[in-house]
Amino acid sequence: MNIMAFCNPNDKRPHVNRPFTQGDYTYALDGALIVRVPKMNGFDMEDEKKFPAVDTLPWDHDTLTVWEDPPSGALSGIPKCGICDGTKKASTCPECDGEGVVEFDNVHHTYECECETCYGDGYAKGGIKDCPECEGTGKDLKKGRVKFGDRYFSVYYIRKIKKELTGIKMSRHGDPNDHAPLLFIFDGGCGMLMPMGEQ
Ligand SMILES: [Zn+2]
Ligand SMILES: [Zn+2]
Repeated sequence: MNIMAFCNPNDKRPHVNRPFTQGDYTYALDGALIVRVPKMNGFDMEDEKKFPAVDTLPWDHDTLTVWEDPPSGALSGIPKCGICDGTKKASTCPECDGEGVVEFDNVHHTYECECETCYGDGYAKGGIKDCPECEGTGKDLKKGRVKFGDRYFSVYYIRKIKKELTGIKMSRHGDPNDHAPLLFIFDGGCGMLMPMGEQ
């Protein structure tokens, strides 16, 4: 498995943009998803205080016996992607060069404004590249949800788990009223996914 796939390299927070080791395990986390594998070299923490208390999460995987296949990451009924407007293709915004902001200066000051062409996201619809936001699906994956047991989960994360991992099994364990995370196992480790709200 590629543990880096579960980090967000663009995030400025050090515990999110790379994996980190606490105790006997190495963790990777991004948004609602966290995975844990046996300790890997090269991911020691520089400053322990900066890292989240992942050891307080309910790592109950070893106590569970009933596991199921993951739900489908089907895309029906999901709203279209706001970046490519459902066209599946995107390009770097020509106005801001993908920066999301444009700068003006006069003799006294430099001003930074959000780019009005891309509304700050740095992409323009159309082009030849698969839209990076929706991975070329044309759908707003983060808004899409899939039911597993009594809880709803983001299609985006379910698809990521299924794309990056093998031997995946998921558990219905956890109180849905308590917004308990979904526990899952895979070849080489285990993880948790936080549910979405009801809406
Ligand atoms: Zn898109
Ligand atoms: Zn722009």
